[in-house]
Amino acid sequence: MIEKIKRGLEFFQMITYKEYETLYHDLELQQHPEILFIGCSDSRVSPEILLGAEPGDIFVLRNIANTVPSFDARTRDMTTLSGIEYAVLVLEVKTIIVCGHSNCGGCASVLTGRDQLSQLPYTKDYLQPLDIVREEIEKNAGDETPDTKARMMEELNVVEQLKHLKEYPFINERIADGNLSIEGWRYDIGEGEVAMYDEETQRFTPIVSQLKSTDHS
Ligand SMILES: [Zn+2]
Repeated sequence: MIEKIKRGLEFFQMITYKEYETLYHDLELQQHPEILFIGCSDSRVSPEILLGAEPGDIFVLRNIANTVPSFDARTRDMTTLSGIEYAVLVLEVKTIIVCGHSNCGGCASVLTGRDQLSQLPYTKDYLQPLDIVREEIEKNAGDETPDTKARMMEELNVVEQLKHLKEYPFINERIADGNLSIEGWRYDIGEGEVAMYDEETQRFTPIVSQLKSTDHS
C-alpha cells in the first residue's frame, strides 16, 4: 500500500500540481477557506472528494466520531477546539459543517457500550460524552432494529455536536450576527448520499435532491 501511496505522490507532482500550478502559487502564503468541515477520521470519509473541493476551499478537522467538546468539557479536546477557534476567529469561516457517516465505528462502540473498549482506554474515555446520545436512543427507540439505532446514533451524535458548538460565545455571537452558520450532515457511504439536519422538522433530508427541486422551481 505504501508504494501505491508514493506513486500517488508522483501523480500529484507530475499531473495534479501542474494542472493547478497557478492556484498553488496563489495559495502559497495565504488561505481564505469559507468552510470548516468537522468529520470523522474514518478512511472512507474524504472531504475534498465528497465536496469536490479544491485546495484552499475547506479547513478540515477530523477525529473519531466527528466530535466537538461541550463548553463544560472544553479542556478534553484542545486539538479540535484550537482548530475551531482558529477557523472562526482568524480565518473567519462562514459555515461550519459537522459531518457524521454511516457505519461509524465510534458511534457503534458507544451504542454497544463503552465497557467493551477496555483494550482502548483512551478511546473509551474520549467517547464518554456520547453516552448521553445512546441513553436518549435507548429511552425513545429501544425497540428499533440495530440498523435504525445505528443511524439514529450517527444522526443524533451530529445534532449533539451542533449543540456543543452553540455553547461557545465566540460561535454563538457570530451566528446571532448572521456571520456564521452551522450545518449537521450525515454521509451514507454505500449510497453516496449526504443528508442534512433540518432544525424545524428535526429530520435529516438528502441535500442533492433538495438542490434539484430548488432548480426546478
Ligand atoms: Zn466514524
